[in-house]
Amino acid sequence: MKTGIISDIHGNFEALKAVLEALEKEKVDRIICLGDVVGYGPDPNLCVEQMKQIAYATIMGNHDAAAVNAISMHDFNENARIAIEWTQKVLGFEQVLFLNTLPLVFSEKDWMAVHATPEAPEAWDYIFTESQIVQNLNAMEKPICFIGHSHMPIAFIQEANGDILLQNADEIHFESSKKYLINVGSVGQPRDGDPRAAYGIFDEEKRHFTLKRIAYEIPKVQEKMRACGLPIPLIERIAEGW
Ligand code: ZN
Repeated sequence: MKTGIISDIHGNFEALKAVLEALEKEKVDRIICLGDVVGYGPDPNLCVEQMKQIAYATIMGNHDAAAVNAISMHDFNENARIAIEWTQKVLGFEQVLFLNTLPLVFSEKDWMAVHATPEAPEAWDYIFTESQIVQNLNAMEKPICFIGHSHMPIAFIQEANGDILLQNADEIHFESSKKYLINVGSVGQPRDGDPRAAYGIFDEEKRHFTLKRIAYEIPKVQEKMRACGLPIPLIERIAEGW
């Protein structure tokens, strides 16, 4: 079973289209989306529709929750809030219904996925400090957990003796004695300095994960964002990958 793992699409349909084409070439058996389908970008309805039709599972992200008024926006910065308020205005009824049904956790036999943290997915925390990394690895009910949320691809690995390793998420061979917390980066708004869309491929039989990047038509998305009146910093950042 080969699973395409994607996260943080953020209404960027051009980026999503490029990723879905790449995943088709990779012949994945299914696609799991780790949330934040909407927010920031100009095509929330198209992105929700795509996930509704093709994703095996989609998890709820904080921007999805805010877009359907399931959480307050007090943690959002001004531009994020403006983009969500715009998203709320344009989201269709069916799309709102779909976003409302999304779960916070996806779970398989040997692995799991959440949008933000395995420790408390509903709190929408970020994992930055060493103590947060350790706490979250310890909170994992499965040896492997995929996350999104920070838009920064990285792998936190806990060795059998408890030692923690930080590693880029490009190529990971899973060993049964270790635990893995893997951020798969962002499709629609990367923040690691590489503006290309990120996507992961998890091969369960081969016990292997690869994180890949693909270029997409950024100027086309920026033009749409301008036409929608979305904040300038959000338009500029997708070209910079920050
Ligand atoms: Zn996000």
